[in-house]
Amino acid sequence: MNIEKREERILKTIHEQDQNNKQSLTEQNRDKVWHHISAYNEKNPPMIIESGDNAWITDHKGNRYLDGMSGLWCVNVGYGREEIAKVAYEQMKKLAYVPMTQSHEPAIQLAAKLNEMLGDDYKIFYSNSGSDANEVAFKLVRQYHQQNGQPSRYKFLSRYRAYHGSSMGALSATGQALRKYKYEPLVPGFLHVAPPDNYRKPEGISVEEYNIQRALELEEKIIWEQKETIAGIIMEPLITGGGILIPHPIYLEKVQEICTRHGVLLIIDEVICGFGRTGKAFGHQHFKVKPDIVTMAKGLTSAYLPLSVTAIRKDIYEKFDTGEEHSHLRHVNTFGGNPAACAVALKNLEILEREDLINRSAELGDRLSDELASLKDHPYVGDIRSLGFLMGIEMVEDKNTKEPASNARITKIIGECKANGLIVGRNGETVEGFNNVLALCPPLSCTDEDFDFIVSVIKKVFKENE
Ligand code: PLP
Repeated sequence: MNIEKREERILKTIHEQDQNNKQSLTEQNRDKVWHHISAYNEKNPPMIIESGDNAWITDHKGNRYLDGMSGLWCVNVGYGREEIAKVAYEQMKKLAYVPMTQSHEPAIQLAAKLNEMLGDDYKIFYSNSGSDANEVAFKLVRQYHQQNGQPSRYKFLSRYRAYHGSSMGALSATGQALRKYKYEPLVPGFLHVAPPDNYRKPEGISVEEYNIQRALELEEKIIWEQKETIAGIIMEPLITGGGILIPHPIYLEKVQEICTRHGVLLIIDEVICGFGRTGKAFGHQHFKVKPDIVTMAKGLTSAYLPLSVTAIRKDIYEKFDTGEEHSHLRHVNTFGGNPAACAVALKNLEILEREDLINRSAELGDRLSDELASLKDHPYVGDIRSLGFLMGIEMVEDKNTKEPASNARITKIIGECKANGLIVGRNGETVEGFNNVLALCPPLSCTDEDFDFIVSVIKKVFKENE
C-alpha cells in the first residue's frame, strides 16, 4: 500500500472513531444527564453544544445557531472572549480561593465598580446564583426588621408571573404556579399580587390609570395583611421570564411611594435586567425608584463563571451593627465571591464599557422593534413588547378575544426558527395557559450582520406561519 493510500485509511478510521464518539455522546447524554425543565423526550434530544463564538453556538454535529437567548438570558458580551478566559486563568494561578469571611482584591474592586454603576452607596454581598442572591435578601430583610424594632415584619410580597429562583425561599417568592406545582408547601410568609399586564388591561381605562390601579392593589394587600407584618417587596423592573411584561413608569414610582409610606423594603431583582440588557446599566434606572436592595447574577459575569450579588443600601447594613450578640448576618456560602469569578466579572464589565454595549443594547432594541413592528399585523401576534435588546412577542389564537396561542403553534414557530439557525425562547411552564410569549434576548455584542440574520429569520418564519 502506498503512502497516500495508508494516509487515506488512517484519516477514514479517525473520522469513523470521531463519528462513533459523537454518537455515543448523544446516547450517554440520554442515559446519564437529567436536564433542567425538560420533559422525557427520546425523539428530540437536547443539543450538545460544543463551542461558542460571539452570538453563535455550534453543536457537536457542527450545526451553527445564533443564540437569540444568550444561553439563559445571560451571555451578554457573547461567547469565546479570550481576555475573560485569560483573567480567570491568571487569577486561578495566583489565588484560586478565599472564603468571603476574608477578602481579596477582585472582590473589593468589583464592589467599587458595582457601586459606581448603581450610583449610590451599597454593601456588596457575594453568592453563586440569582436564587442565592434573593435568599440572602430575604434573610437580611427579616433580620433588619427584627433589629430595627419591628420584629413582626416577616412577609414578602411579589407578583404573579414573576420568577425569582428555584430554591425554596426564592421559589416561594416566584409567582409562577407551574414552577411550584408538586413542590409545595413552600416557605410561609410569601404573598402575591397581580402585575400590570398592559396588553390585557380592561377596556376603557388608560395604561397609566391601570398601572396606578395595580400599584394600589399592592397597597391594599399591605393594609389587609396588616402593614406591620410586611417586611419587603421583591420585583423585577419588568417581568422577564414570565412573559416580558413592561410596566408604565408610573407603576414603579407608585410602588416606591407605597414602600416608603408603609416602612416596607424594596428589593429589585436585576438578575436578567441588569448589565445592559434593557439599554441601561440596571433596569430600574428607567424608573423613579431607589431600591433598598438590588440582586444580580447572570450578566454580571456574562455567565463565564457563576457569581451573584446582593447589594444592600448602606443605612440598612448599619442596622447590623448593634453590638448585641447574634446581630450580624449569619449567612455564608462556600463559593460566593470566588476570586476568579470576581476577576471575570470585572473584565466583563470592562468589555461592556469599552464596547459601549449598554448603548448598543438600546440601539439594537429600538431597531428590532422598528424592524418587527409589521408583525403586529400577523394573525397570531397579539402584542410586541421590548425594552433594550429584550423582546417578547405575545402570540394569540384570536386577536379579538386574546386567547393565548396553543402550545403547538408556539413550538412550531420555535422549531422553525431553530431549523433556520436561530434559537428563540419562550415563557414556558410558568403559568397554566399563559406560556404564549416568545422571547428574544440575544448577546448585546451582536454584529449588524447577526442582527439582520435575527430579523430575517423571524420575518421568514412568521410569514410561513400566517
Ligand atoms: N431572578 C430572576 C429574575 C431570574 O430570571 C432568575 C433565573 O432565571 C433567578 C432570579 C434565579 O437565578 P439562578 O437561576 O441563577 O438561581
